[in-house]
Amino acid sequence: MTEFILATANPHKAHEIGLVLSGVGIGVVARPAQVDDVEETSDTLEGNALLKARAICAATGRAAIADDTGLFVEALGGRPGVRSARYAGAEATDAENVKKLLSELSELGVVDRSARFRTVIAVAYPDGSSTLVEGDLRGWIVDEPRGQRGFGYDPVFATDELGGRTLGEVSIEEKNGVSHRARALVALAQRLVA
Ligand code: IMP
Repeated sequence: MTEFILATANPHKAHEIGLVLSGVGIGVVARPAQVDDVEETSDTLEGNALLKARAICAATGRAAIADDTGLFVEALGGRPGVRSARYAGAEATDAENVKKLLSELSELGVVDRSARFRTVIAVAYPDGSSTLVEGDLRGWIVDEPRGQRGFGYDPVFATDELGGRTLGEVSIEEKNGVSHRARALVALAQRLVA
């Protein structure tokens, strides 16, 4: 069985990636504890995903997979985008990031609250080659958080693909049926077996 090292040490993400890739006969191993996390210094999702995959590949000598996700809000020129995790500051909580996003939109008084989640996954190989895939989910930012599920910006992101509900209002199965990350993973599985 082909096996890849994951850049993430997050067990939930590792489990989600493992589930999709096991369906096409590919195994994944979490980042070894002695390999440090990689700083995301690029200003694009592609750049950060590649940076992480290449660093883990170099540290382990094995093919590596890394992902990066951002929420791109049209009225904010694509912010928070690649800085989604740190939008309200380096150590910002999900609640602080959401609060900043909602207050910016309400200050602008924007009518069009269109937004898009986008995930890029990079694979880096020991021979120096690499590959990129992506997945996205289109929707809009609601006025007030709705639902207690999920994480990050889930309670303020609604989509027609879920009947106008936010990602905070749906089950994990419903979210995985349409999510940016799940779509990127399916694209990855297709690319790896092609
Ligand atoms: P990461 O690249 O997966 O670590 O995601 C960066 C940031 O984007 C996270 O800290 C969250 O704020 C946000 N984010 C990523 N994926 C999701 C999601 O599925 N729902 C809500 N927020 C997300």
